[in-house]
Amino acid sequence: MARIKYQYNPETLRYEPWRLKGKSLRIRTLVLFSISLVLALGAYSVYTQYVGSIDEIILKQRNHTLKVEWELLQERTRKANAELRTLIEKDDHNYRVILDTDPLQPSERQAGVGGSVKLDTEAFAEFPLVLDNYNSVLQLKRQLDVEVQSYDKLKAMIEEKLEAWASRPAIQPISNKELSKLHLTYGSRFHPIFHKYMSHKGLDFAAPKGTPVYATGDGKVDKAYFSGSYGNVVYINHHYSFETRYAHLSAFAVKEGETVKRGQVIGYVGNTGNSVASHLHYEVLFKGEHVNPINFFQRDLSNKEYQKLIEIGSQQEHPLD
Ligand SMILES: [Zn+2]
Repeated sequence: MARIKYQYNPETLRYEPWRLKGKSLRIRTLVLFSISLVLALGAYSVYTQYVGSIDEIILKQRNHTLKVEWELLQERTRKANAELRTLIEKDDHNYRVILDTDPLQPSERQAGVGGSVKLDTEAFAEFPLVLDNYNSVLQLKRQLDVEVQSYDKLKAMIEEKLEAWASRPAIQPISNKELSKLHLTYGSRFHPIFHKYMSHKGLDFAAPKGTPVYATGDGKVDKAYFSGSYGNVVYINHHYSFETRYAHLSAFAVKEGETVKRGQVIGYVGNTGNSVASHLHYEVLFKGEHVNPINFFQRDLSNKEYQKLIEIGSQQEHPLD
């Protein structure tokens, strides 16, 4: 509680509360105002010297934000560059080696792709750091464009290879379950009907009549008809210069012009044409020349099964056609 001052009044003969009046009041008020003003000015001076004006504070905050964003941008650019280097490394030394194709030449990578946004270099003359960073991002974009084009080419190459691999005859035309009953001869053999040595340009798979016969690669049925020597026969064109033939069938499961997939049933084992027992006569041709089909069975055989097939294939007893 504020202490109240008292003063003796000779007129009333009493002590009364003391109050400033007139000149004294004005002087005291002025002194108080001056002290307040000096203190306020002092506080403002200290504030502006050590803290800054409102505009400065806003500018400092913006500056800080820009600095953080700038550092993030530089970090992202560094990471993108590192990832691009990894992609180029895999492109040149992994994928292109697997696909048996040459790596891109440095000149092809440097060529880049146009279409970039032009920067007013004069306006940024006082900010070389900004200009340098812009140019490095631009360079990164060009290299990425080149790499994207390169990967598109690799993708097309892989798709072509996959189609070629799918087209290549690569399985047996008869199930492995019938392997012990196979009867294989390739080359010259004594013909059981014509009774003289004649060239045998396929393999004979002895199997019961009606055993399913499978397409050995993707392709298109070129022929499915009855021939005097082959009996019921299917020709499949596999593209990429491969052709297969399946003879002495008892029945067809496909028609001429039909597209077939590897492993699809195309007919059934029989004894039609120049044949002395139920079996499949199977031929493989590459660029129009006969090749030994035994070289195309590795895909679905173990080493032991493949060795057994080779041994059986070397026997030349009991020709079937
Ligand atoms: Zn044969």
